Amino acid sequence: MAISEDDIARVRAATDIVALITEQVALKRVGRRWVGLCPFHAEKTGSFYVNAEEGRYHCFGCRVSGDQITWLRETQRLDFVDAVRQLAERAGIELTEDESERHLHQERRRLYEAMDQAVEWYHDQLMNAPEARVAREYLKSRGINGEVARRFKLGFAPDEWDRLTTSLKFSPAQLEGTGLGFKNRLGRYQDFLRARLIFPIFDSSGRAVAIGGRVIPGYTDETRREGKYKNSPETPIYSKRRTLYALNWAKDDIIREGEIIVCEGYTDVIAFFEVGLPRAVATCGTALGEDHFRTLRNFATRIVLAYDADGAGQSAAESVYQWERQYEVDVVVASLPAGHDPAELAREDPDALRRAVAEAIPFIEFRLERVLLAADLSTPTGRAKAAEAALKVVNEHPSDLVRDQYLIRVADRLGLDVDTLRHSARGTPRRSSPVSSNETPPPRAPVGDLPRPGTEALRLLLANPAGVREDLPARLFVDPRQRLVATALSEHGSVSSAVDALRSRGEVEAAELLDALVVMDAPAELDPEAVIAQLVRSAVTHELRVIDRELRQGVIEPGLAMSVVRDVKERVNELEGPTRQAAIADLREWLEARGVA
Ligand SMILES: [Zn+2]
Repeated sequence: MAISEDDIARVRAATDIVALITEQVALKRVGRRWVGLCPFHAEKTGSFYVNAEEGRYHCFGCRVSGDQITWLRETQRLDFVDAVRQLAERAGIELTEDESERHLHQERRRLYEAMDQAVEWYHDQLMNAPEARVAREYLKSRGINGEVARRFKLGFAPDEWDRLTTSLKFSPAQLEGTGLGFKNRLGRYQDFLRARLIFPIFDSSGRAVAIGGRVIPGYTDETRREGKYKNSPETPIYSKRRTLYALNWAKDDIIREGEIIVCEGYTDVIAFFEVGLPRAVATCGTALGEDHFRTLRNFATRIVLAYDADGAGQSAAESVYQWERQYEVDVVVASLPAGHDPAELAREDPDALRRAVAEAIPFIEFRLERVLLAADLSTPTGRAKAAEAALKVVNEHPSDLVRDQYLIRVADRLGLDVDTLRHSARGTPRRSSPVSSNETPPPRAPVGDLPRPGTEALRLLLANPAGVREDLPARLFVDPRQRLVATALSEHGSVSSAVDALRSRGEVEAAELLDALVVMDAPAELDPEAVIAQLVRSAVTHELRVIDRELRQGVIEPGLAMSVVRDVKERVNELEGPTRQAAIADLREWLEARGVA
């Protein structure tokens, strides 16, 4: 990592986390904290809390948490270094990076600039060039008017081999680095796309990163043997595995609705926007893969596949089920009438397209229906064959419970005995899945399950670190996670660096605990003295239990131990009374002698 700890701390300190988050999420003030609807999971009441002073956010629903840098990384899909850079730029901070880093960064910036200029140039061609009339007419015939062309920055590449290259003065590095041009056999630079309609592709933060080109019927020379669609190659600014077309425009609606529609083509995406569902994206010339899922998961938990029927049926079932579990999303399928893609359906019957999304069915059900609809159910042999095919589909699902529900449904539809079907299901080999069916999510440690004295002491420490640190040493915390948090807080100047330290030591649960505590409302109601007393008492009680055990095991001598225990118990009771401070002092002394405080 080329960015220094100092720079990271400066960037954090200079960035108002509430201002940053409200660019995408509405927050309202509650006490000393800010609350809003979590952008990382679908919810109707706000569980997403922000602590402005410490620069941290945490969701009590899906338990994401982080600081300004994590926020940018998660919402804009940036890597760490780019996120810090972007924040530094916003705050006007000059980073002290090393030379090679700076050089790489500048190179990438020149590629973004070139791509941006090219997109503007292609767009200007489409809107204004006389020879683009054929493209404009084609778009009109597909129901795409000028306003839509402007919204999606559509473009036109003339039927010449170097019009872009000669019109814009790009360096060879820019042409090759963006994939906009390449060196031909004569050693001259040539445009990557010609005689095509251009669909520019932006990353989720709205920077142009690539272009996709579609042939224009009636315009392209038929002898040219290239595909209907042609996309930019992978470049330093464009990764096909990660990029989703239109995510930059769809983001807001996706977050608002908790739903994302995934389709196959650029015109399908545009069709969804046009029928009032501006939350559609498309993969760019690759199948929907794991990296796409990871990106989708950051924006919504309901993923609607809106491919034409054959396309959806062919999605790799095993991967889809695995990603559903791994990323805790629901994958559903919009059933489109056979032979229709979304763009066609939008023109013929926009209501049907909206309905297909609203009534989308689980992926397994969709696959099962296709098998059952294709079967001949009029003969016993036909039904047996259908049962076999259906079992194969059902068996792909990793959950026993889900499988059994669909077995019952299949038995019902085919008029077969469900136990017979269950029996044959057991005989049919289950396809191995990397995710086992009885796998449970990682254990979670909500704040509420931990000892209350420790929780209150930590909240007090967070609210008034200087005032009470001396009285709340880490060793008084009985619960190991709470103790780790107290230690990290005493060793680090800010909550963010304490969280980083815990995570780097692999103490994930303690880091999560700290993240949750820091966004809880400041405990104005807590009386420091009472909190200290409680913590001391809980430490004492814990020690007494240890002594009890030692007595039973014969480690210590009974007579003496009993008198100590009796004495200590009396002092614990005094913690409520008027002599509380003296009792606290006594007990801390006693704990110290026991090697605790
Ligand atoms: Zn959440």
